[in-house]
Amino acid sequence: METKIIKIDQDNLDHKLMQEAGDLIAAGELVAFPTETVYGLGGDALDPEASKKIYSAKGRPSDNPLIVHISDFSDLERIAKTVPEDARKLSDAFWPGPLTMIVEKGDAVPYATTGGMDTVAVRMPNHPIALDLIRRSGCLIAAPSANTSGRPSPTEAAHVAEDLSGKIAMIIDGGPVGIGIESTIIDLTEDTPMVLRPGYITPQMLSKVLGKEVVIDPGIIAADDTRKPKAPGMKYKHYAPKADMAIVDGTRKHVIAKINELVASHRDDGKKIAVIATEETKQFYDADVVLSMGSRADEDSIAHELYRVDVIFSESFSTPRIGQAIMNRMLKAAGHQVIDTHVKYDKIIFVAQTGTCREQMAKGIMNDFVLKVPMEIEARGLVVQFPEPVNQKAEAVLISNGISTEGMVSTQLEESDITETTMVFTMESSQRERIIESFADIDPEQVFVLSQYVGDELEILDPYGGTLQSYGLCYESLRATLKKLVKLLNANT
Ligand code: AMP
Ligand code: MG
Repeated sequence: METKIIKIDQDNLDHKLMQEAGDLIAAGELVAFPTETVYGLGGDALDPEASKKIYSAKGRPSDNPLIVHISDFSDLERIAKTVPEDARKLSDAFWPGPLTMIVEKGDAVPYATTGGMDTVAVRMPNHPIALDLIRRSGCLIAAPSANTSGRPSPTEAAHVAEDLSGKIAMIIDGGPVGIGIESTIIDLTEDTPMVLRPGYITPQMLSKVLGKEVVIDPGIIAADDTRKPKAPGMKYKHYAPKADMAIVDGTRKHVIAKINELVASHRDDGKKIAVIATEETKQFYDADVVLSMGSRADEDSIAHELYRVDVIFSESFSTPRIGQAIMNRMLKAAGHQVIDTHVKYDKIIFVAQTGTCREQMAKGIMNDFVLKVPMEIEARGLVVQFPEPVNQKAEAVLISNGISTEGMVSTQLEESDITETTMVFTMESSQRERIIESFADIDPEQVFVLSQYVGDELEILDPYGGTLQSYGLCYESLRATLKKLVKLLNANT
C-alpha cells in the first residue's frame, strides 16, 4: 500500500485535504495524525475490522486496548454504558487535553477495540487537526501511538513514516507535537478513581478537581513485578529510551560531583549526554541537555530531549506518591542501574558548647551501644579555652550509670577533625549553623542536629546550672535519642 503524506498547517486547515483524510477513516482505512501528546494511528473505533488493522500495522499485542478519541463530550454518551459524574467534572477541567478516562463500555464499542475488556478508554485530544479529523470522518477514532509496538512514541511525522510507511493509507504531517509523553489514564469504574498511567496531568490535579482521593495503580509502583498493572499496555516496555541511563543516589553534594565526573568522562568519548536534575541543582551541571524534574516547561520537553542523547544521568527522586511512580519508571528505564554515592561514615563527633557536658555524655553513652559497622566516637566543644575535665554533675550521672569518665577532657572542635567520612551531631541547631559558618570547606550535609536526625521534636537541652536531677534527665533523653540514632545507623549499613 502506498502511504500518502499530506502537510497540514494546524492554524490554517486545508479543508479539502482534511476531508480526504476523514473519508479514508470512514472507509475503514488508517490515518496517522498529530495530537498534543504524540502522533496517533487512527481508525474507526466502532469498526472491528479497522481496529484489527491498527493492531497489525503496529504489531501490537491484541490484548492491549485502544484509546477512543472523541471531539465532543456528547460522543462519550455514545460509547459509555453510563457517563459517571466524575467524567463530567474532569472533562470540564481537562478536555480537550492529555487525559484518558476509563468507563464501562456501551454496546456500540466492539471488543476488538477494547482488547476484550468491558471498559473503554476515552480521550478528547487538544489538537486542531485531531479534532477536525474526528468531526470530518463522522467516526470516533481509535488511536494508539503511531509507532511499531515497543518503540518510542513518535513526536514527528518523519518518525511515523519510518515505522509505518507502506502499511497505512495516510500520514498527516502537522509538524512536531508538543508534549511527547502519553496521556494520563484514570480509571473511573471503581469507587476510588485510580491513575493507571502517570502522565502530564498529575494525581494531585485530578484529586483537586474531583474533590476526593485519587490513588495510583499499585501495579505500576510495586518495585517487584508481582502485581499486574491494571492498564494492560503498562506491562510492555514502552518507556525505555535508546540511551543508556543511570540513576545516581546519595546526598546532594556527592550526587552532583559524581554526575559531573560521569558527564566529563562520557563527553571525552564523544557521547551526547542528558542530566535529569531539579530546579535547585540544575545550575550545577554542564551537559548537552539538562532537564529539571518538576518544572512544567521541562516536562514538556523531557520525552523529546531524552530520545536525542546517548547517555542519561539522573539524580534520584523520592518525593511521596507521584515521586515514587516517576522513580519506578526511571528505575525501569535505567534497567535498575543505580550508582550509590552514599558515604560510608567511620567517625562521629558530638558537639556542644563547652566540650564538658552533653557532648561527653553522648560519647559515653554511644560507646555503650553496639554499631554494626564500628565508628570512632568523639566529643568536641565549640568554645574551649583550655582543657577542662568533664562537668562534675555530668560525671556523677555517668558514673552512677556505670559509664567511665576516665580521660574525658574538653577539646576544641577543629576543621581538621571533620574528614569526608565524619558525621557531626550538634545538640542545638544554632551550633550546627555555627559550624557551617566557621568551616567553609565542610559539607553541610555531614553536620546534623542530633534530635532532627532521629526525628525528635525537642533538642537536647543544656542542663548547665541545674540540679543533679536535671543532669539525670538530660542523660535519659540523650540515651533515648542515641538509641534511635544507633537503630538508624545500623539500618543503613
Ligand atoms: P497507547 O494507545 O499506546 O497510548 O496505549 C493505550 C493505553 O491505554 C495502554 O496502556 C492500554 O493498556 C490502556 N487502556 C486502554 N483501554 C483500557 C481499558 N479499557 N482499561 C485499562 N487500560 C486501558
Ligand atoms: Mg504507545
